[in-house]
Order: sequence, then C-alpha cells, then structure tokens
Amino acid sequence: MNRKILYIEDNEQNLYLVTYILEKNGYRVISARDGQKGIAAAARELPALILLDIQLPGMDGYAVAKKLRESAGLARVPIVAVTSYAMVGDRERALEAGCTGYIEKPINPETFLSQIEQHLADRNASGGAKL
Ligand code: MN
Repeated sequence: MNRKILYIEDNEQNLYLVTYILEKNGYRVISARDGQKGIAAAARELPALILLDIQLPGMDGYAVAKKLRESAGLARVPIVAVTSYAMVGDRERALEAGCTGYIEKPINPETFLSQIEQHLADRNASGGAKL
C-alpha cells in the first residue's frame, strides 16, 4: 500500500504538526513549500494523497489543484485542501479547482488522522476522484 502523502504548505507549524501525526501513524510525508515544488514532487513521487494549503506564496492552492488535475498520472489522487475555518467561499473554489475535499485549519490533532483515512478510503472505494 502506498503510504506516501505529499503536503504542500508554507507554514512551518502546520507542516510540523501534520508530519508528526502522519509519521507516527506509519505514513511517509513529502513536503513542498510552494506550488511549483509541490507539482514537481507530485509527478515524481506519485503520492497516495495530496494535502494542499490554499494560501501559498506565488501560485495559490486553486491554481496548484488545477495543474495537478491536468496530469494524467494524478487524475485519481485525492487532493485535500487545507482551508481556514472562516474562509467558507474557499471550499467551494477548492472543489471547483479539482480538490476532493477539505480539512479545516486550525488542524485538530484529535480528528486529523481519521479525516485523512476517510479520504483515502473514499478513493479506494470509488476507484476515482470523489466529489
Ligand atoms: Mn499558507
């Protein structure tokens, strides 16, 4: 089973927390600090799931999601947007850009792992991107 998760995030605290939770639970985390690096890492690593911050330097998360979806090899990979709780409109835009779901910031360490596993399970059950 592919346990690689790519996290595209410029905030060190979020990166640290998410990496800690996932690695403790047997996942391997690949990180990228901006969209361009994230797109390159996705093509190279073919992760089981991509976590995508929306507010990134340069290319924003919507543009990154669109670009990721253009890649045939990544068409079925769940892309989970990480959005601020207050930014309700962001979620709609994230789904329109090709994300399969979202997780709210601040990240809740109590529920984060089960949210990730639900997105992985949805992917496996449907055999494709699920909206
Ligand atoms: Mn950010």
